Amino acid sequence: MAELSTPDHIWFDGAVRPWHEARVHVWTETVLRAASVFEGLRGYWNPQESRHYFVHLDRHVRRLHDSAKVTRIPHTLDEETLLKALSELVSALDYREDIYARPTLYLEKGRYTADASAMQAGFFMPVFPSPREKTIDTGITCLVSSWRRSGDDTAPPKVKAAANYYNLRLARLEADTHGYGEAILLNSAGKVAETGGASVFIVRGDTVVTPGISESILDSITRASVIELLRDSLGLRVEERQVERTELYLSDEVFLTGTLCEVTPVVGVDGTPVGQGRPGPVTTAVQRAYYEAVQSGSADTRGWLTAGPRLG
Ligand code: PMP
Repeated sequence: MAELSTPDHIWFDGAVRPWHEARVHVWTETVLRAASVFEGLRGYWNPQESRHYFVHLDRHVRRLHDSAKVTRIPHTLDEETLLKALSELVSALDYREDIYARPTLYLEKGRYTADASAMQAGFFMPVFPSPREKTIDTGITCLVSSWRRSGDDTAPPKVKAAANYYNLRLARLEADTHGYGEAILLNSAGKVAETGGASVFIVRGDTVVTPGISESILDSITRASVIELLRDSLGLRVEERQVERTELYLSDEVFLTGTLCEVTPVVGVDGTPVGQGRPGPVTTAVQRAYYEAVQSGSADTRGWLTAGPRLG
């Protein structure tokens, strides 16, 4: 995965500030015990309208609230304040291309207390340019990791907490060490869960299958959008059910979905080619439908998009 370049400015402590001014002390809960929750959302650049359109801003705010609720991080962030912060930062950065924003709530003080008055929380948000990855066209290979995805009874995957990404980091390091592009994690029952940053879909005959949301996965926003497109736009049958490891090898197609990886084809798993070993027709059709929807700008008919500031 390409390293992100560092922007000049970041949203930190209630304002757009120079990147290097966004600092927290080492002796804080966020550094010591990874006490932070975050979201990753995209803004697609619309050159005709000279502005970005953010995808599912409302759902990202709701999930950030859910994550903060479980981890008891106090905050007052709502959709309006997030959009205002995003607009100010995007205007300052003046990126005229697709972008990725990572709003993050973090705990500076509070240790093991659920008492909001005993805590001090902060909020920061970087925005990065996020060009389309080459792997959208070529596809990637995956390794089924020997690390299991944490469960709802350990480090709940529905909470998008920084701490959860330690589990996913181990799997990604294993995949990288063995020359694969991504790791697929099984859950504690040995069924397919998700990757380090995406949901898994398989195509078997005329049916598209993806693990259900109780299979130790993030309740992914792209996953729900892609299920909607598969059913409504492509007229395909979609099943949410347990997926066995061997089904990854036996499927006609496998693809991953997520805010960052969009719809990425998987062309091999554990050294076994998927289907013909190249992106298949369902994957490319759903890629097309996804881009059409997220790049529709003011013609958005699904209610997925929120307009960013017009850049002069
Ligand atoms: N699973 C994990 C572990 C992730 O980090 C992500 C990225 N947020 C996803 C799935 C995809 O979720 P979304 O579609 O909401 O970006």
